[in-house]
Order: sequence, then C-alpha cells, then structure tokens
Amino acid sequence: MKRIAIVGGGISGLAAAFDLEERRRAGADVEYVLYESSPRLGGVLRTERIDGCLVEAGPDSFVTEKPWATDLCRALGIGDQLIGSNDADRKTYILVRGRLIEMPDGLMFLVPTKILPTGMSPLFSWKTKFRMMRELYHPPLAVDRDESVAAFVERHYGAEMVDRLADPLLSGVYGGEAASLSVRAVLPRFAEMERTHGSLGRAMLAARKKMKGMRKAAPPLFTSLRDGMQCLAETVVGRLTPACLLTNTSVQALQPEAGGWVVSAGLRSDHFDGVVVALPARATAEVLGTASPELAAELTGIDYSSSITVGLGYDQDVRQSLPPGFGFLVPRSEGRQLLAATFVHNKFPHRAPPDRALLRCFFAGANAERVSAHSDDQIIGIVRNELQQILGIRAEPLFARVYKWKSAMAQYGVGHLERLERITSLREKLPGLALAGNGYRGIGVPDCVRSGREAVKQLLGP
Ligand SMILES: Cc1cc2nc3c(=O)[nH]c(=O)nc-3n(C[C@H](O)[C@H](O)[C@H](O)COP(=O)(O)OP(=O)(O)OC[C@H]3O[C@@H](n4cnc5c(N)ncnc54)[C@H](O)[C@@H]3O)c2cc1C
Repeated sequence: MKRIAIVGGGISGLAAAFDLEERRRAGADVEYVLYESSPRLGGVLRTERIDGCLVEAGPDSFVTEKPWATDLCRALGIGDQLIGSNDADRKTYILVRGRLIEMPDGLMFLVPTKILPTGMSPLFSWKTKFRMMRELYHPPLAVDRDESVAAFVERHYGAEMVDRLADPLLSGVYGGEAASLSVRAVLPRFAEMERTHGSLGRAMLAARKKMKGMRKAAPPLFTSLRDGMQCLAETVVGRLTPACLLTNTSVQALQPEAGGWVVSAGLRSDHFDGVVVALPARATAEVLGTASPELAAELTGIDYSSSITVGLGYDQDVRQSLPPGFGFLVPRSEGRQLLAATFVHNKFPHRAPPDRALLRCFFAGANAERVSAHSDDQIIGIVRNELQQILGIRAEPLFARVYKWKSAMAQYGVGHLERLERITSLREKLPGLALAGNGYRGIGVPDCVRSGREAVKQLLGP
C-alpha cells in the first residue's frame, strides 16, 4: 500500500486528491490524506449568492484554451455546468486621461492584427501607431537571456503600449508589474514568435491565416461554471473519502525519513511514502526549510502579490447607465487605486437578475497592499469614489462585499524558468516529493489542476 500526503486543499491539492481517489477506485493499492490549514477546502475558489447575484470572491472563470479544468469538470460529471463568456458583448475599455476608450477590434492580447480599427483608435498616439507599422518589419531575433515583459513590449511597440495594455492586462492576471514579469515565463508564445518571425504582428497574421480554413466558430474566450467556481471545488470534495480530509490542520514541517516522508501537523506526525506539496511557493519553503534549506531558498525567491476583489450589486438604473461590454482596465499612469472592473451581468449574464447590475472591482499589487490596511467600509468607499469618477455611478450599492487575498498570486519574475530548473534539480534529490500549485508553470485554475494531477503522476507513474 502506498500512502500519499497532500498538503494544501486549494484546487491544486484537490486535483491531486481526485487523481488519487480515481486510482484507488480503479483498484490501485493507494491511500491519501489531505491536510488543509483552514476550515474550508477550495483555497481561493469561493462563491457567494447575494441578492440573486452570483458573486465570485476569487477567480471568476478560466481561459477556455487551456483544457485541464474543463477536463476535470467532465471527469467529475459536471460538464453540463460549463458555460462560456458572452463574447458577443465582449468589449473592454481602457481608461485614458479619465475617459474610457474601447480596445480596437483585431487586438490579439496586445498585438494589432487589423490596420483600420487600430489606426482609427484614440487609444494610441500617432507615435505608437507608427511603431506598430514599423513593427511589421522587426527582424527575427534570438535573444539569449530572459527579460521583462515591459522591455520586450517596449522594444516592439514603445512605452505607451506597455502602460496602456501590457501592464494592466498582466497585472490583472499576476498582480505584478510588466517591468518585473519574465517574458519567457509569462508570454512564451511571444518570445517564440520573435525568434521565428521577428514581428509579432506578422506572426499573429500568419497563425490566423493557418487557422482560418481549419476552424469552425471560435470557442468563447472564458469558461466558468453555472453555479460558480466554488462548485468545482465542492464537487471534487464530494468525490473524496471524507476520512482522508483533515481541515483545520496546518502542516509545520516535512522531513524525509526511512525512504518516505514524515508530515508534522500540530501534535500529529504521520509517515507517508510520498508527499504532494500544493501550497504557494513561500509556504512550501517554510515546510521544507529543514529538509532542504537550498530548495527553500529558491522557493522563497518566487514572489507573491496580494489582491482584493469587491463585488457590488446595483439596480436597473445603474445597469442601464453602464456602457456595453465586459468592463475596463486602468493603466498605472492614471494614478488611481483600482486596476479593473468587470461588468459581470454582461460577461456572464445569468449571474445577475435582469434588473441588477453586478460589478467586480479589482485591486492588485502595491495598491492592494496599501488598500488592504483599510476596513471593508473604507475600501467600499474608495471603490465607490473611483466608480463615480470613472462611470458616473452615484447610487448607493444594494450590496457590497470585500474579499482580501494576501500573497495569493504568484509573480514570475525575470529568470523564473532558470529558477524552476534549479528547483527541479534540488527536488530530484528528495525522492517522494512532488510540488504543485500556482508558483511554477501557470497561475490560472487550469494550470493548477494540471499541476496537481502531474504531481501524482510524478510519484506513482501514469
Ligand atoms: C483574486 C484572485 C482572482 C483570480 N482570478 C482568476 C481567474 O479569473 N482565472 C484563473 O484561471 N485564475 C485566477 N486566479 C488564480 C487562481 O485562482 C489560483 O492561482 C489558484 O486557484 C491557486 O490554487 P492553489 O490550490 O494552487 O492555491 P490556493 O488556492 O492558495 O490553496 C492553497 C491552500 O493551502 C492552504 N495552506 C496554506 N498553508 C498551509 C499549511 N501549512 N498546511 C496546510 N494547508 C495550508 C491554504 O489555506 C489554501 O487553502 C485568481 C486568483 C486570485 C487570488
């Protein structure tokens, strides 16, 4: 009998537990115990129903292109819960000098692929538009070292593109700044395009041409669950063996012993053949500090940033006053505290009744750190003040909820992939140890699911 410990009950740890449970049910001689420090399982996946609205406290969806979360839903028998974003209404605005400007059609992430809409858009100055034209002649380039996303994008399109698009788009995902994120870890496809085509614009156009004949209708950009993201975690938990789940049990240390691992949690110590550590990298460093100080030092080098989401419900009048689309992003240069707001009633229409507007506001990075020192009421005050200035909303919200997430978003800094190589070789010196979570090869929910399942494969084989 193989005994496996899983440390951390977020979606990464739950995906690992589900994999083990499936193996057990298929007849494998395996047993698992999942340790979670808090009273609830699911980590940052948390959904609340308030006044007929479905409010996501953490992630609200995931990118459809990455299949692992969708596959997990299907394996759990909740494929009918999967819903796509309402892409017919997909418009995103950028705040520029206090005005919301629509992102032009044909922008693929930040690469313009349609000349006319980009050329006519007030989002960019003439200087940047000229850079975009010139970028089409960028020669192929094999850069031999990592660099920041900001340096990479600036090289192609200039500083305005970094400020207005790259920085706010990536801050929304990683919480960090384009100036410190690694292009190789965060935008590996773009780094590859530069190597093969030089111009990102030409590479995108070539890729689109290739896909044209092959593809039917494009799938929605984002996928979510009808009853909210927490439903994914709850369904996994429902499939697991209750006696194997130890909530309110914080792991303090992991120590290799007698060809396996001893897990110490409070007064308990238990021996396992293998352990999946599915914690944020910093917490992983803490539990492995004695077992491998070198590995712990590398893990500590992976930065995490904080974020805050605020869900606000409004009445029909506010709903009618809002622009169409999914919401807006705020570049750092605007000097505001908010990073973004999503018009949830447009992005996922069934999440709010027809006579309600549901807004999800987001603070990230240094602003989130600063704002999180305030009380919930003060934070709601800051949000309302900014929404009044940006959208003209003066009305009292019907409800408002603040969710603070301390150091929950991993930031892949310049040199992240090299750090991962060092982590892998140090981990290989510790047989029976596998790492999962958002600190390594993808921060989104699908990547976390994949990391949990791969960690189990690493310990037990395919
Ligand atoms: C506000 C926010 C919005 C996001 N939006 C999106 C989105 O829209 N789409 C998307 O794809 N991704 C999004 N993400 C990212 C994604 O949700 C996370 O990266 C992912 O859910 C992390 O899962 P995890 O299991 O690795 O970590 P976590 O969810 O952080 O779980 C780790 C668990 O470990 C527990 N723990 C910690 N220390 C110990 C210990 N010593 N012993 C035992 N247990 C311990 C914690 O209590 C926690 O439950 C968002 C993240 C945040 C914070």
